This record gives sequence, structure tokens and C-alpha cells, in this order.
Amino acid sequence: MVDLVSQYEKMQEEIDTAVLNVIRSSAYINGPEVKAFQADLESYLNVDHVIPCANGTDALQIAMMALGLKPGDEVITANFTYVATAEVIGLLQLTPVLVDVDPNTFNIDVEAIKAAITPKTKAIVPVHLFGQCAPMEEIMAIAKEHNLYVIEDNAQAIGADYTFSDGRVAKAGTIGDIGATSFFPSKNLGCYGDGGAIFTNNEELAQVIRQVANHGQTRQYYHDFIGVNSRLDSIQAAVLRIKLRRLDEYAAARNKTAEFYNEAFKDIDQIETPSYFDQSTHVFHQYTMKLKGVDRDELRTYLMERDVPAMIYYPVPLHLQKAYVDDRYKAGDFPITEDLCSRVISLPMQTELDNEQLTYITETVKSFFNQ
Ligand SMILES: *Cc1c(COP(=O)(O)O)cnc(C)c1O
Repeated sequence: MVDLVSQYEKMQEEIDTAVLNVIRSSAYINGPEVKAFQADLESYLNVDHVIPCANGTDALQIAMMALGLKPGDEVITANFTYVATAEVIGLLQLTPVLVDVDPNTFNIDVEAIKAAITPKTKAIVPVHLFGQCAPMEEIMAIAKEHNLYVIEDNAQAIGADYTFSDGRVAKAGTIGDIGATSFFPSKNLGCYGDGGAIFTNNEELAQVIRQVANHGQTRQYYHDFIGVNSRLDSIQAAVLRIKLRRLDEYAAARNKTAEFYNEAFKDIDQIETPSYFDQSTHVFHQYTMKLKGVDRDELRTYLMERDVPAMIYYPVPLHLQKAYVDDRYKAGDFPITEDLCSRVISLPMQTELDNEQLTYITETVKSFFNQ
């Protein structure tokens, strides 16, 4: 699905030098590379505060802790997502309130959010799934009306631009009260291990986020509340600084791949290629298609046998996962999410696919339908 070795080889000298410099400096934790990366990312995202942390799941958890959410508070999020989003809600003993998504963009449904609000609702966590922003303008309006926090799960859409109806443009993750992202190796901005970050334009909140991520410490060895230990390594920061400079180039390569797939599959009735949302650019974390009247397992096996990887993101909705079984929900409650889980399939999406590989992938897919 991803070829991180070829990508590394194109910048090997630069990466090797940067990594060795960190090792030689011995500034392994919170060293100058971490501060420099933080500043680079603040400037790229045009956001006041970036707080690096250990991974994207921590970023979400720290965000919720910093907002002072308490057990029993309801947090609305999309049912069609990676489990981390709901996991931290559960871990903090908040109540996850799942809502359905838009069948075309795969992102959280605005009407479903409105219908899910109760007096206990405290926050909305939209996920910018597969590389495209959720409808943030409407979400921010709902949040304002009901006095709710918005935490953007931006693990899949770093670099995407959201355009408001007045023409203002903002980077994904910088629109809500807090944005959370992941630098897991296969993400659009990935390091060579684990990493994550939290973004905010709120100075006070930034201060609390830094304290939560550092054992609830207000000054050295003084702990005013229980926090966590979540840091980005200096080595990972050094890698990320180099890759951040290429992030827009990477997004362009991903879009070219998507266009190649779109063109190749446009006449196959059983394939619905991804929809574009007009208020967001797409950074194609995943290229996810919907199948119509196709045995998905059969297609996947056919592709696997011909060395074309294909993945299902995501096969099971959250409300049908054992860990999240809840009296409030049953099969059939989320028709769109359940339908998507049964018929989406994702093809290889990364920065290093050349025309020869793309031709092989698309011809193999087409040959399945022309058998
Ligand atoms: C990857 C991902 C996360 C978690 O990131 P980690 O760094 O793996 O903890 C959270 N939310 C979404 C939508 C993701 O894709």
C-alpha cells in the first residue's frame, strides 16, 4: 500500500545527516530539532501553537483532557472512522455519541450531528477522513450555537485546505478549538516511528495542553493535576522537518495517482470513484472506492493473487465492534456507515507510484471486471 523505502532513498543523504546529527548532539528529548519542527509546522499551517506529542491517539486524548471534559460528558463523533477517535473518548469515561456520515464524502453528517445534541453534549470530533475536510463551516456554526468544543481529528488530512464561503482559507486542523494529528509512518506526513501533534490558536489552551502532555507539570517538579507523558523524539522531529518541506509535493503526487485511477475506472459501472468536496482540497490519505454489485472478497483475493494490495478501511462500524457494544445502538442504526463498511475498498496510495505500476494496478482491476 505504501513504499516508504523508495521515498527515503530520494532524500537519504539529508535524512541520514539529520538523524546522525541528533545522535551526536545527545539532545534526544525536546532538543532543538523538536523546537525547530514545531516552528516549521506552525508556519506551514499558519497556526499559533503546535504542541508535538508521542502519537495521534495521545494527541486526541490530551486535547480532551485539556478541555476539562468530565466523565459522562457526551462527545459526538463519526461512526465511520479509525477506532482511536472513539477509544480516547471511552478511555476518559466520556460518552461517545456516534453519528452517521455522508455517503459521498465519507465525512460526518451535519444533520446527524444536530439530531444527536443533548444537554450533556460538550464536544464534536469531526474526522477529516481519507484526506478531505469535514464540513467545518457548518460544524463550527453548530458548535457556536450550542456552546460546544470542536476537536478536529486531522490524522489523515494534514495539508488540506478548507475554503469558507466568504473565501477565507484555513489548513485542516486549525479551524476548531484544537486539531490533533499523527505522524505514523504511513500517514501523509509520517516519521520513522511514532509521533503526533496538537494545534490550537488559543494561547491559554496551548499552555494547558503543554502541561497535560508533561505530567500535569506547571513548573519543574510541581504537578497541579494528573497528566500524561507524551513527547515527540528529536530524531523523529529531524525526519519530519525534512519531509514537511516536501508535503505539498507529496500531496500533488497523491492527487496525480488519484486522477490516474479516476480516469482508468470511469467506465466501470461497478466502481464509484471518490467524490470531491468543493470546500476542501483532497490530500488523498487513501484512495477509497465504493463497489456496486461486486463480491468484494473475490475482487480482493483476485488482486492479492496478482500482487496488487487492497485494503478495507474500515470493515466494521464502531457500534458493531465488541469493545464498543452499547445498549443505545444496534445493527441497522447507521445505514450509511454500515453500507460503506460493506462495500468500500482502497487501492495503493502513496508518493512513489510510477506510470508503469499504476498501469499494472488499473489493468489488473479492469481485468477482474472483464473476465
Ligand atoms: C492514524 C489515526 C489516528 C491515530 O494515530 P496514531 O499515531 O496511530 O495513534 C487517529 N485517528 C485517525 C483518523 C487515524 O487515521
